[in-house]
Amino acid sequence: MEANTNLLTIYEVLLSKYNNQNWWPADTPFEVIIGAILTQNVSWINVEKAIKNLKDEDILEPEKLHKKEVDEIAPLIRSSRFYNEKAKKIKNFMNFFFDEYNGNLSNMSREDLVILRQKLLGIKGIGEETVDSILLYACNKPIFVVDAYTKRIFSRYGFAKDTASYQDIQKFFMENLPQDTELYNDFHAQIVHLGKNICKTLPQCNICPVREINDKIKCRYYSEKR
Ligand code: SF4
Repeated sequence: MEANTNLLTIYEVLLSKYNNQNWWPADTPFEVIIGAILTQNVSWINVEKAIKNLKDEDILEPEKLHKKEVDEIAPLIRSSRFYNEKAKKIKNFMNFFFDEYNGNLSNMSREDLVILRQKLLGIKGIGEETVDSILLYACNKPIFVVDAYTKRIFSRYGFAKDTASYQDIQKFFMENLPQDTELYNDFHAQIVHLGKNICKTLPQCNICPVREINDKIKCRYYSEKR
């Protein structure tokens, strides 16, 4: 199977159907980082409320947020669930950000991808999906973000085993796509769109644009259920 061609073709079909998703939905790269931390295990609508509260308090800027304590941040992000833990994670990130890069995103983005990824993974409470979202959407680094939608769609499609790890799936995408930040950016966004709206827990294969692109590129789940 020519995975390279297949993955790109799947992306192109999604792009032509849904248009560029223009991710990440944020006003600044710093807002992307805070949104990436807040969105763990919660829907985006709840993150938006937390982001709005931080903006209304005028603290969604590195210098200002760095000065806030966990107990000052927590009530403002209550809508994002697990808000005490998330306030600690934000505080952990802010301390790292100022210790390592003086709170300057350009400094952080200039860091080598592999080194920066390792450093970010060292922050307590920040996992791979969050780190890769920060790297891709805030720092413009070419790294593919994997989430539950990616795993579900591409295991149904036949590209990944149900037991595949985050690293397995990320490696599959990155080895079979050109190293292209814009492509990684919008492909992940298209996957989220498909997973949220079509390839849901109960998939709506009858309206799925990638169910059968041609004789060679078709969804295994759809083919077997027909
Ligand atoms: S055809 Fe069905 S199972 Fe396959 S990707 Fe589309 S919605 Fe998901």
